[in-house]
Amino acid sequence: MSTLEFLKSVDTVFDEAANILNLPYGLANKIKLANSTYTVRFGVRLKGKIYTFTGYRSVHSEHMEPVKGGIRYAPDADQNEVEALAALMTYKCALMEIPFGGSKGALVINPNDWEESELEKITRRFTQELAKRDLIHPSQNVPAPDMGSGEREMAWIADEYRRLNPSDINSRACVTGKPVNKGGIAGRVEATGRGVQFGLREFFRNDKDIKLAKLNGTLDGKRVIVQGFGNVGFHASLFLSEEDKCIVTTVIERDGVVYNEKGINIRKLKFHMEQTGGTKGFEGYHEGGKEFLLNDCEILIPAAMEGVITKENANKIKANLIIEAANGPITYDADKILEKMGVVIIPDMYANAGGVTVSYFEWVKNLTHIRFGRMQRREVERQNLSIIEAIEKMTGKSFPLELRDNVMQGPTELSLVRSGLDDTMRIGYKAMSDKFHSSEKIKSLRIASMIIAIEKVSEAYVSLGI
Ligand code: NAD
Repeated sequence: MSTLEFLKSVDTVFDEAANILNLPYGLANKIKLANSTYTVRFGVRLKGKIYTFTGYRSVHSEHMEPVKGGIRYAPDADQNEVEALAALMTYKCALMEIPFGGSKGALVINPNDWEESELEKITRRFTQELAKRDLIHPSQNVPAPDMGSGEREMAWIADEYRRLNPSDINSRACVTGKPVNKGGIAGRVEATGRGVQFGLREFFRNDKDIKLAKLNGTLDGKRVIVQGFGNVGFHASLFLSEEDKCIVTTVIERDGVVYNEKGINIRKLKFHMEQTGGTKGFEGYHEGGKEFLLNDCEILIPAAMEGVITKENANKIKANLIIEAANGPITYDADKILEKMGVVIIPDMYANAGGVTVSYFEWVKNLTHIRFGRMQRREVERQNLSIIEAIEKMTGKSFPLELRDNVMQGPTELSLVRSGLDDTMRIGYKAMSDKFHSSEKIKSLRIASMIIAIEKVSEAYVSLGI
């Protein structure tokens, strides 16, 4: 799928949802189109030569500020792609009640072509270009990691921004997804995969949707195929297999596929990939790729990239449920085919919102300058101990030792982040599913989520008086 088709896919879903709503004339168009997209070409002297790099930062909607969205490092990124992804960020934040507008950025680069010190130099130069136009700014535009970038790059960006703005006490809030020792938050790295897990758990609490997908029971024993074993795919697979007893039968990576009908050991596969750089040589390794999306399973998790399920392969999908961990993995045409087949799709806008949700918590932490839980943890622990002692006194029995620590403990930053994320994913799912079941005109969870997003953004615009 070309990046233009990706942008058209996002816009077509928008149009379909907007047509169901009765918006003031012209407002739908205002919401749909990106406000601005900045392209920068900058030179960096490396290996004794000057290399020119291209970067983008698109701001889709400023109905709320700051605007928020990752910066991906990818050799084939372009303006259409960042605009599609920025639009998705606007809709995602609106749906999940995260008080940000949508943005997205990209650096056209293959990170594997460069040494770490070179990548640092390039990232710092890109930061300078964006910061001088307030396209990185704690109150205006807050990037985060995406494909090909991570904590390391965010730490460089934060540090460069701080050097440019040494008197800004809130400079750490200029970017999220930083390492914890640089102002990051516990649980951010795992957040998107964790959100996929919480989203699936919520799906399995919703009888109507379970029935629609022709499934039953819980996550226990469900066979799962995952495409992309990076940040999102790895964490989702890990949590689902270790905590929800899912059987991850297939992992599809760039260089091959791992298949084990009894369930892949996710930690061992991760270790193998870290040691060898790929899936080759791991037990159950096969050559091939995308065709394994068509294997038998109950749950399919595309967690690699956009446009992998198209009208060419959609009708051969066997999964009952697809959760779009990646952004835009299903094209518009494929979506319609799957809808007719009765495959339930949990859309990207909701499914991968865990990352931006915890980014929001990180931004709040940076602005408050205090770790979550720091003030109340020991106080809660003291209160819980008093309750335990009172129970022991009233009953004359000692509190079960194996439960004591668990009942007594106060919240840590990690437990609060997980709780906030779980709450956000539950509320988001309920809103989306309730909207879906509220009218015959709304044919999918995707259209339902888009309707909620458009309603929220349009309300904000109408209040602004445009
Ligand atoms: P990542 O770079 O950590 O991982 C991507 C993985 O997919 C890599 O292991 C790569 O080898 C693999 N891959 C790439 N092309 C593939 C292909 N054709 N077939 C199979 N595997 C392939 O990226 P990520 O952060 O995990 O992001 C993955 C997706 O999730 C993207 O669409 C991104 O926009 C989306 N997303 C990420 C976050 C986040 O917090 N990281 C948040 C929201 C959405």
